[in-house]
Amino acid sequence: MGNTQPKRILILGGGFAGLSAAMELEKSLATDPGIEVTMANRENFFLFTPMLHEVAASDLDLTTIVNPARKMLRRVNFFAGEVKSIDLSSKKAVVAHGFDHHIHTLEYDYLVLGLGSTTNFYGLPGLQERSLTMKSLSDAMRLRNHLIAHLEEAASECCLVKNPLLTFVVAGGGFAGVETIAGINDFVRGALKTYPNLREEMLRVVLVHPGAVILPELGEKLGAYAQRKLSRVLPTEAWSSATAR
Ligand SMILES: Cc1cc2nc3c(=O)[nH]c(=O)nc-3n(C[C@H](O)[C@H](O)[C@H](O)COP(=O)(O)OP(=O)(O)OC[C@H]3O[C@@H](n4cnc5c(N)ncnc54)[C@H](O)[C@@H]3O)c2cc1C
Repeated sequence: MGNTQPKRILILGGGFAGLSAAMELEKSLATDPGIEVTMANRENFFLFTPMLHEVAASDLDLTTIVNPARKMLRRVNFFAGEVKSIDLSSKKAVVAHGFDHHIHTLEYDYLVLGLGSTTNFYGLPGLQERSLTMKSLSDAMRLRNHLIAHLEEAASECCLVKNPLLTFVVAGGGFAGVETIAGINDFVRGALKTYPNLREEMLRVVLVHPGAVILPELGEKLGAYAQRKLSRVLPTEAWSSATAR
């Protein structure tokens, strides 16, 4: 008797990398009954991160930057869960899901890794505890709520020292940092109209970047161009060749 077990392709992560792989396989190998493709991701949606700052800045409704994975994948199986471990030698991934975080073991013949990255705090003491990250939808919502809470607190009559509450620092001048600082800047300046006792001079919006030119992803020429443009709309002490401390 022949071996009828389908070949299993497991994609871990449903961001740009994982979802692109899944969509490609959806059109090709997943049509083959001898091949089974599964994508596992923490959330059951794809998040369009380049517009995340617009959710944080209340420019966009959050539903405009998410797309349900199950809607996009017809042939590729979808598994919503948290990847806990991968055993490359036995070709197994352990994934937790459900209200009780119970464990499933997903076996594979071929593995596609698309789990993205985590924020690097460079081991700086206290940074992780005292900062907000900007990677997920919940990060964007948290940042938005935080900005509003700071404006409300600074505007209250009992707040004697307003400036620290109105100082916003973003560490890192890559895509995420630059888009986030611009979003924060637009949001807080726009909101000032509704806070008669807060003035523009009280705001301090700072981008801290360790290089001379922001957006290293774009190369020096484009980065310098973006830096010039941004400094026009971000009238702040924006550029510092420093490392966050
Ligand atoms: C605010 C912001 C703005 C950006 N703007 C731009 C831009 O304008 N242009 C540009 O080119 N790039 C931009 N980027 C960078 C871009 O988002 C990343 O380069 C891209 O998302 C990387 O794709 P990825 O698939 O490797 O990772 P991700 O998109 O991060 O996807 C990883 C996926 O894996 C999932 N995952 C991670 N760990 C686990 C786990 N243990 N279990 C289950 N699932 C897990 C995550 O939930 C996520 O869905 C921006 C990033 C941010 C945060």
